[in-house]
Amino acid sequence: MRSKPPLKATRPPTARVILLRQEAPAQPSPGEPCNGCGVCCAAEPCPLGILVSGRRQGRCRALHWDTALSLYRCGMVSQPQRLWPWLPLWARASVSRWARRWISSASGCDATLVGSPAPR
Ligand code: SF4
Ligand code: SF4
Repeated sequence: MRSKPPLKATRPPTARVILLRQEAPAQPSPGEPCNGCGVCCAAEPCPLGILVSGRRQGRCRALHWDTALSLYRCGMVSQPQRLWPWLPLWARASVSRWARRWISSASGCDATLVGSPAPR
């Protein structure tokens, strides 16, 4: 009897559809400054997003669209009280700074996903 072929350790690349606003900026190249395109956070939550969203997959609950700036922002940085309504007023700025450090917001785009517009 033939033995079964070994299972592959890696999964084949898959395509996923994520919904983003048409007016959102285009995803920059890796290492360039984050421009709020929203691709990474709409695809799956980061470790902070897992904590906030209570799940490991799907769009992060903290991701929100900033109409004035025409870009996506991390709600844990811009308005943590929206995600954690119990947060006292005096703690909001500290949580925002803590979130900014955690997501390393100044480090540039480190997304491993490459977004491309869906065919129409
Ligand atoms: S880290 Fe990159 S993919 Fe994620 S929102 Fe910023 S620019 Fe877009
Ligand atoms: S950076 Fe903010 S919005 Fe993006 S996945 Fe992490 S917690 Fe969510």
